[in-house]
Amino acid sequence: MRAGVDLKAITELAEQHSLCPGCTGRLAARLGHGLSNRARGEALLATRAMLAEAADETGAAPFFHGGAPAPTPDECGLCAGLCGEVESLAQLALDAVGGVELKTFQVGTLVDAEILSREKELQAELGNHGEPLKSQLNREIGSRVADASGLEPQRDSPDAVIVVDTRYDTVDLQIRSLFIEGRYTKADRTIPQTRWPCRHCRGRGCEQCDGSGQMYPDSVQSLVAGPLLAAAGAAEDKFHGMGREDIDAAMLGTGRPFVLELRQPKVRSLDLPALEKEINTAADGHITANDLTWVARSRVAELKETVCDKTYRVDIRCDSPVEIERLKKGAQRLAGEVVEQRTPTRVSHRRADLVRPRRVESMKLLSVDGATAELEIRAQHGTYIRELVSGDGGRTSPSLAELVEAECRVEVLDVLHLHLEEPET
Ligand SMILES: [Zn+2]
Ligand SMILES: [Zn+2]
Repeated sequence: MRAGVDLKAITELAEQHSLCPGCTGRLAARLGHGLSNRARGEALLATRAMLAEAADETGAAPFFHGGAPAPTPDECGLCAGLCGEVESLAQLALDAVGGVELKTFQVGTLVDAEILSREKELQAELGNHGEPLKSQLNREIGSRVADASGLEPQRDSPDAVIVVDTRYDTVDLQIRSLFIEGRYTKADRTIPQTRWPCRHCRGRGCEQCDGSGQMYPDSVQSLVAGPLLAAAGAAEDKFHGMGREDIDAAMLGTGRPFVLELRQPKVRSLDLPALEKEINTAADGHITANDLTWVARSRVAELKETVCDKTYRVDIRCDSPVEIERLKKGAQRLAGEVVEQRTPTRVSHRRADLVRPRRVESMKLLSVDGATAELEIRAQHGTYIRELVSGDGGRTSPSLAELVEAECRVEVLDVLHLHLEEPET
């Protein structure tokens, strides 16, 4: 007997539990290659009936045949009608994908837990040689959807998973997100990187936020995502930046890499160069988006893990005019130095209180004007530049303030460059 499939035991179980032909055939799914479970079940029951007839045992073994046909799916003691609902379930799936741009799909089904556990018992009784009901439904619904829509079934990362809930006759269409990588620059020192829900109303909209639900009217995220969301008909977006600068810092140079995720997009073929232009026209110089390109989801994690040196341009102010020579010497002494930075007081409410060593690659004095000066600083990722200048009450040491023996603070901080060409390991 092939692989332990006991056909006689299957027909006996079929009678005992009033199984429809589909559920009967599914118990022997390893035999009869190319047959549907229903055809397999019908053949099995008919053969068994004929064998009984030939042996003149019809009275002793009244298998379904002739005037006593096998139960219909609606009468089935296992699937409770599901085997007969494939057409209507497939129609639900087709309705759900209508108007959505897809190439590939996969069907998943949710089935009543009681049916699944009863099926498990039956399969176990026969040595588990059958096919699960869910896999039959997925396959049969899937092939009807493919035939009617021209979409291609695909197991690995399909454009959408059509989850058919057979308990309530509903469909949850899970469309794979789109991921777009680019770089942004930000000349406007008043906008945050990401959307920031209003503190007072938590995003619902109130008087404080003029009904916008946001602390700031615009963000890099909202300006970049706006045209893309609209073009893709997406439900929402998520902005993954490679780190972030402070709201009041500009992001200059070649910009900062980001990946924008568009969730539940109804359109997948976007004209990225045209949309990039649209973003930049609408943002009117406050921010720019550049080099938009399609990437895989895995880029988000890669981006989060990438760290590199950054170069900053910094305007500082001291409590009184400081001699150029002292500033120059202070800057020279910090270049190449590893400074110890205890978590700054301004962020200590959300970061662990630790002392972190950070390397200052270079510090150049660009100009001095009385009590103000302009510096260019290149430092290891995660260096607190404001505290490197001010000393943060001794929590960062050495610091520029400590070395020039004067109070110094950062007035303007811009990111000039991310040294991605030589990422730190
Ligand atoms: Zn059935
Ligand atoms: Zn509000």
